[in-house]
Amino acid sequence: MQLTNQVALVTGGARGIGKEIAALLAKEGADLALFDVNAQVLEQTAAELRALGRRAEGFVVDVTNASVVEEAVSKILDKLGKIDILVNNAGITHDGLLVRMEEAQWDRVLDINLKGAFLCTRAVAKAMLKARRGRIVSIASIVGLIGNPGQANYAASKAGLIGMTKAVAKELATRGITCNAIAPGFIKTEMTEKLPDEAKERLKAAIPMGTLGEPLDVAQAALFLVSEASRYITGHVLVVDGGMTSW
Ligand code: NAP
Repeated sequence: MQLTNQVALVTGGARGIGKEIAALLAKEGADLALFDVNAQVLEQTAAELRALGRRAEGFVVDVTNASVVEEAVSKILDKLGKIDILVNNAGITHDGLLVRMEEAQWDRVLDINLKGAFLCTRAVAKAMLKARRGRIVSIASIVGLIGNPGQANYAASKAGLIGMTKAVAKELATRGITCNAIAPGFIKTEMTEKLPDEAKERLKAAIPMGTLGEPLDVAQAALFLVSEASRYITGHVLVVDGGMTSW
């Protein structure tokens, strides 16, 4: 096991890609803290992680709320002793064409996907700086690299997350802390489940590997970026997209 005695915080960890990442890190020996907004789903996931033999605590935290984030990070430090790994995964879409996009629709996506990651990274970085070690991984998207019609808000949030990752990597590099991003393509979760069948077929045709990815494909990339194997990699964006953006 690669992560024995380590503590990982995964935001949006109750379901989807975040849950898959949490489960894989737990299987590799890490204790888990999860931030999410639905208390029932959160507790169910924390119980599943405990069944793997790890300590796991769920915290009802909206990542856009700075004081709630700070308070929950202190509770993790009290209960689990430290935070070695942060995975900024919480994210939403609220699509619409530019000319019809409401200001609130723009703000909510930017708040959760980008400001949320900033607030969690800032809160956790203080403890990592004291410990002089840490791993930060943010789940961006290929949409932040290449854009997508109807997703100006989402693309901006994910491009912003990539910029933040590179800046934070440079700030923290001398202190034993790495900061990287993963840019998934299209992955089978509830987020993509809601796309119309015709859109899913069009997507598959644009993916050289011919199929949407699985949450585990993203989780394996996250495991690499939080493990000792990636110790000399920081400020990187690891694309996990079945070849969709290769050129
Ligand atoms: P998902 O199934 O919708 O899961 C996202 C989780 O984040 C949910 O549990 C959600 O809670 C939680 N969340 C939402 N807002 C939150 C907030 N303010 N504070 C804390 N938690 C919050 O999404 P996913 O497909 O697993 O996506 C996970 C990440 O991967 C996102 O950042 C997404 O942008 C990124 N990504 C996904 C794909 C894909 O194809 N699926 C591709 C590229 C990137 P609720 O249960 O209340 O919604």
